[in-house]
Amino acid sequence: MKDGIHPNYGKCIVRCACGETFETGAIKDKINVDICSKCHPFYTGRQKLIDAGGRVDKFRKRMNQHQDTKTDQDTNPDQDTKPES
Ligand SMILES: [Zn+2]
Repeated sequence: MKDGIHPNYGKCIVRCACGETFETGAIKDKINVDICSKCHPFYTGRQKLIDAGGRVDKFRKRMNQHQDTKTDQDTNPDQDTKPES
């Protein structure tokens, strides 16, 4: 191996958001992951809601707002073309 160009490869602890930890080899000491083979739906066979950054909540909020404006639109059709920010 050529000197001075290779990173230090060694033991690495991988920590998942589900609490699972396992060891692997990498150039970092620790890696944090959101999903692993213990909690991924493909392996568990169960559907898991992966809600990064509260996207589902945001969507539901928008959905409720949309339904609120929809009832308003019934009385006022001009707002139909108004773009939502
Ligand atoms: Zn996991």
